[in-house]
Amino acid sequence: MLNLDSRTIVVITAILGPVMALVLLSLRRNYPGSVKGLGWWATGTFLLFGGILLIAARGRIADFLSIPIGALLLMAGHAAWVAGTEKFMGLPLSVKTLGAIVLSAFALFLGFYVIHDDYLMRVAVVGLAMSTLTVLHCQRILASGKPRFAGRMLLVCLGANGVAWLLRVGGAFAGTIGPDVLATTTLNVFLSSAQSILAMLTLFGFVLIASERVRDVFERLATRDSLTGAWLRRAWDVQAQGELDRSRRHNRPLSLVAMDLDRFKNINDTLGHAAGDQALIDFVNRVNALLRKQDSLGRVGGEEFVLLLPETGADEAQIVAERIRASIERESKSPAYTVSIGVAEMQPQESTVAAIMSRADAAMYRAKSWGRNRVELA
Ligand code: GH3
Ligand code: MG
Ligand code: MG
Repeated sequence: MLNLDSRTIVVITAILGPVMALVLLSLRRNYPGSVKGLGWWATGTFLLFGGILLIAARGRIADFLSIPIGALLLMAGHAAWVAGTEKFMGLPLSVKTLGAIVLSAFALFLGFYVIHDDYLMRVAVVGLAMSTLTVLHCQRILASGKPRFAGRMLLVCLGANGVAWLLRVGGAFAGTIGPDVLATTTLNVFLSSAQSILAMLTLFGFVLIASERVRDVFERLATRDSLTGAWLRRAWDVQAQGELDRSRRHNRPLSLVAMDLDRFKNINDTLGHAAGDQALIDFVNRVNALLRKQDSLGRVGGEEFVLLLPETGADEAQIVAERIRASIERESKSPAYTVSIGVAEMQPQESTVAAIMSRADAAMYRAKSWGRNRVELA
């Protein structure tokens, strides 16, 4: 049926595999240190494709290298891939579980090689171990929420590879896989070719998922304040202007809120800069806990924050602001601090964020001059 030379396909991918491993290693050097797991993926790739080469060289090298060592490298390689994905996802490394799967399968494998030479049982052992590793691998990918393109690509490749391993096991028991690893039965040729290609695609998946992560890291660096995680001014401005335009188009209300922590210099002077930083972090956490999904909090100065409240008129915005003020007064402990707040609702003639913001700011300064720790409406 398939006029393919599986040994050629296997050898080509076994050469491309290590090249991809080198790509992963170079990404490891160039990507931010927070992108983890690339080293494990590269190591796993060297092991796995080393194993594939040994297996494909059956008959040309010592059987001991081609058969048990080849199988061991194959299984250890995939286990290292799983470990890489665990590191990448920030999960604890399950070295014991992975090691137990690989070593117990290898012990069984040796039994069916040294004690009772049975090729089909060896296929079954490796197939079951590899499909188990595949299931674990897919679980790790799904552990951190809904996967995006690269995650889905990895799931498809790994899933298909897991199924291929089970087909090998089935083929071994049904007698359709052939008498040895290089057999030219349709099933063996098809599975060897498909699995080589799937392994290559999995490597592309690793590269892609790592670059998705780098994009996230840099996007966060460019848009979020590193101390508090609040939006930086520029990113907040873009969102606010977009919301403002939308609100004007649809004739919907929108409010902006200016907030400035009270006598913040005192906190720094008496308790130290670290306590001041802690108060800023505390403030952002408390405010975020009171917001809806569409609201967004920006840090526009040292201890100055702005809040975008879409679909919110002055009355409702004042209630939100008062809730924030009261929560800070009541719950801020170490250090205790308060906040002064100015609220402004978008007026029909206002088409820029700056226009509304200047009224919110003026209201905030009124709150300062009237004793601080209060909310004023523009
Ligand atoms: P007011 O009630 O009038 O707002 O008084 P204030 O002391 O808060 O006002 P001022 O603007 O004079 O002081 C703001 C202080 O905030 C000065 C600065 O040292 C401090 N600050 C600005 N950014 C940071 C920061 O990132 N961390 C810490 N710890 N302090 C900061
Ligand atoms: Mg202040
Ligand atoms: Mg200030």
